Amino acid sequence: YAALEFFDPDIAGVLISELDRLRGGLQLIASENMSSPAVLTALGSTLSNKYAEGYPGRRYYGGCSEVDKAEEIAIERAKALFGADHANVQPHSGASANQAVYGAFMQPGETILAMSLPMGGHLTHGAKVSFSSKWFNAVGYGVDKKTEDIDYDEVERLAKEHKPKVILAGGSAIPRLIDFERFRAIADEVGAIFWVDAAHFIGLVAGKAIPSPVPYADVVSFTTHKVLRGPRSGAIVCKEEHAKAIDKAVFPMMQGGPQMHTIAAKAVNFKECATPEYQKYAKDVIANSQRLAEGLAAKGIRPTTGGTDTHLSLLDLQGVGVTGADAELRCDAAGITLNKNAIPFDPQKPNVASGIRVGTPSVTTQGMGLEEMDVIADVIHRAVTETDGSADNTVTKEIREQVTDLVTRFPAYPR
Ligand code: PLP
Repeated sequence: YAALEFFDPDIAGVLISELDRLRGGLQLIASENMSSPAVLTALGSTLSNKYAEGYPGRRYYGGCSEVDKAEEIAIERAKALFGADHANVQPHSGASANQAVYGAFMQPGETILAMSLPMGGHLTHGAKVSFSSKWFNAVGYGVDKKTEDIDYDEVERLAKEHKPKVILAGGSAIPRLIDFERFRAIADEVGAIFWVDAAHFIGLVAGKAIPSPVPYADVVSFTTHKVLRGPRSGAIVCKEEHAKAIDKAVFPMMQGGPQMHTIAAKAVNFKECATPEYQKYAKDVIANSQRLAEGLAAKGIRPTTGGTDTHLSLLDLQGVGVTGADAELRCDAAGITLNKNAIPFDPQKPNVASGIRVGTPSVTTQGMGLEEMDVIADVIHRAVTETDGSADNTVTKEIREQVTDLVTRFPAYPR
């Protein structure tokens, strides 16, 4: 950062202290990861300067010969990685990708059937405050009270009742695998488009650690910065018959100029994801996640659905009598970054919540394994149940030392 430090010490200072923060604590936010230096190099490149509205070979600006190459490579790599007919790599984010899917398949006022936010869905899946319910008729499904997994019978019942144009599977707090075959059958029964928002788990699909939604869904949208470990961005893959509709919906319906530096970074990331090392990583993420959930369960912090098949678990803190908000605060003071999260049928308000969500993408990138997950389960449990959120609490200090030991042995962005 030497040149930046010289010109703008304020912002250089933020970059340096953020790197210190990343290195200094445990990063357990399920939607975060640590991109490689190769991805970050593409992101910080002069491709950021280039306007390239349109698609490779069909641009509205001159001078696109070089960025065309980057986008073509990104498209081909995404298609190969996911076995997809078509890929659009221009969405700026997961929410932008989702807007484009609505734009491609739905008119204002038409019905979408999606998992509701309090049950594990995402804001863009029809939450009250989002465009997705302001412009469309959003019907929400949830989870079964007993199993806490998706209530497929309810999905089928609501699909028959509301005849949605689109049925959406996926969400932000779903610890279990999704039965794509069942969703496909329900969509076919009512003549709906089947859309999967795979933002959270697409990295596990890329790493061949869990089944892919691509053979079943008409369209799959995703973010590229979660388990996948690419730049902060989005993408869409779909069946050939929807290719034109998706491309038109991304540009010019929803977006202007694509971010060519980010597209280049996505291409780098897709190449990384096709390696045996990444496939091992994806499997390790799940093994770590399961070990962490088991460790917490053994200490009385209950994973909803009884465990996890993925990179994340959703933990119910009602058994230890602590709210999600307090747990987040206490963990934060101890150097453990995670987030409070509503659990299914949560009696608390969303900004208090009865649960926390923990994910293993970042700590696995740092090289931590099963032994370290046992330590992490222990420090989370102690932080939640034995501390008060103040930095000078004795137990908080003890936990901070344990955290420091872990992140020193498994550094983020090793020097
Ligand atoms: N879809 C799902 C399932 C998500 O979890 C998220 C973000 O967490 C998004 C979409 C939105 O992605 P972004 O924050 O990049 O807009």
